[in-house]
Amino acid sequence: MPSYGTNSAAYRAQRQRAEREQPWRTWYKSPTWKAIKRHRLAQEPSCRDCAQDGRTVVAVHVDHVEPHLGEWSLFTKYENTRSLCARHRNLRRRGWGPDC
Ligand SMILES: [Zn+2]
Repeated sequence: MPSYGTNSAAYRAQRQRAEREQPWRTWYKSPTWKAIKRHRLAQEPSCRDCAQDGRTVVAVHVDHVEPHLGEWSLFTKYENTRSLCARHRNLRRRGWGPDC
C-alpha cells in the first residue's frame, strides 16, 4: 500500500480531487461554521457520546447529528451539531465517511 507524504504531488492531487467532488469540504473553513463550532463547544464542552456512557471527556470536534450530505441548511443548523471527543470523532469518520 503506498503511503503519501502530505507534500507529495500525489497527495495534493488527491486532495484537489476530493475538494472538487465534495465542495462542502471548504464549508468547514467558512466563518459561519467557525461560529457554530465555537458556540457548540462553549455550550457543550464535553463529548456527547462519552456522556451517554457516563464519562466526561473534553470535546474537541463538532459533528453533525444528521449527515448534511452537502445540504447547506443542514450543515449550518445549530441544533444538528454536537460535540465529540477525538476518539468518537474518529469512530464517526470511519462509519459515516469523511466529515459528515
Ligand atoms: Zn467521546
